[in-house]
Amino acid sequence: MTALTPPMNGGCRTAPVLKERGQREVFCGLTGIIWLHRKMQDAFFLVVGSRTCAHLLQSAAGVMIFAEPRFGTAILEETDLAGMADAQKEVDRVVAQLLDRRPDIRQLFLVGSCPSEVIKIDLHRAAERLNAQHAPHVRVLNYSGSGIETTFTQGEDAALASMVPVLKETEARELLIVGALPDVVEDQMLGMLRAMGIGPIHCLPAHRIDQETAVGPNTVFALVQPFLGDTHAALERRGARHLPAPFPFGEEGTTAWLSVIAAEFDVPASLFSQVTDAPRARARKAIAQAAETLNGKSVFFFPDSQLEIPLARFLTRECGMTAIEVGSPYIHDALVGPDLDLLPAGPVISEGQDVDKQLARARAARADLTVCGLGLANPLEAEGLSTKWAIELVFTPVHFYEQAGDLAGLFSRPLRRKSILKLEAAE
Ligand code: SF4
Repeated sequence: MTALTPPMNGGCRTAPVLKERGQREVFCGLTGIIWLHRKMQDAFFLVVGSRTCAHLLQSAAGVMIFAEPRFGTAILEETDLAGMADAQKEVDRVVAQLLDRRPDIRQLFLVGSCPSEVIKIDLHRAAERLNAQHAPHVRVLNYSGSGIETTFTQGEDAALASMVPVLKETEARELLIVGALPDVVEDQMLGMLRAMGIGPIHCLPAHRIDQETAVGPNTVFALVQPFLGDTHAALERRGARHLPAPFPFGEEGTTAWLSVIAAEFDVPASLFSQVTDAPRARARKAIAQAAETLNGKSVFFFPDSQLEIPLARFLTRECGMTAIEVGSPYIHDALVGPDLDLLPAGPVISEGQDVDKQLARARAARADLTVCGLGLANPLEAEGLSTKWAIELVFTPVHFYEQAGDLAGLFSRPLRRKSILKLEAAE
């Protein structure tokens, strides 16, 4: 189909990785609830946590006044935790009340958090007990969104991984697309795959539990997000086979991702071109516009969303940028290996974080653009660096051809803003 040209100077797959284990600056895994509750329309995410957890969710997601929300926090006060038996009873009571009031809920996730009192509660046992009580109408699962254990995109990974063991078994040869995408982007992707004659296709997560998502030895799966390491492992344990590919960011990444699936399903090259030629051309044109600002500029990635390696590949190959450091909280070779193959050698590849050391490197490098979490962005802006909030990359539709221009635009906007401010200051 369409093999991408590897970089002239070799890629980064075999580059030494700077591993750091120190203080880190990232949101916790509860953040994933903000996009998952929109996607899974019959699910409810019940965080068992503190007032801090409730504030995080409310301020990040906004409070829906008229709509029934699909997430909430059971705030366990210290007095509730005098005995763990009482805490289990309290969880049962809150869940019974919720399910009684909300018969529309078909999937309930008990989400753990980091206060030490909550860590002591066995939410897995609670989920098993509640599942036995409320099945088959409601499926109860649990995972941890604790900031001690998870960075912000790992919340989605933990939620999806908790669903894999309860998926139905199938012997059918099916394609499973794994990772939550905005509906409009998911529809574009499914439209292209179906136009190539590929099917049956299912998505994890699906909109509703009733959909026929199943897994078995003849399932092949493709990931749309690079942060799904645990889900990937859980699917392999169920016998499914991963289709490793660069992630579908930008024209090249999208074409390579589609090509891997098309090759698996023996799609003729002429049909592949027929489906992809027009959107590829639109993507190239849209990227070229934003790349005028990005071309020749440097970028430094703090580890945050785990999207860093595929995005560095996109910015260097399609937008003419130079990567100085590409940090990622975790590097799963099975997932991001194909992107590392294509990322031109040169940048420091770092895994984990020791924030003070990394800040020193970022200050020394003074890249044209620094991609980092919200907590670091303001201080770095005050020091004259242009920054991009990593969290925006997760909240904005950026996958596949039609969003490729917007993806490049997310990076070019802070640079354009800076040059306009400079001009105004000079006048
Ligand atoms: S899970 Fe932990 S890090 Fe996340 S909001 Fe709750 S207390 Fe804070």
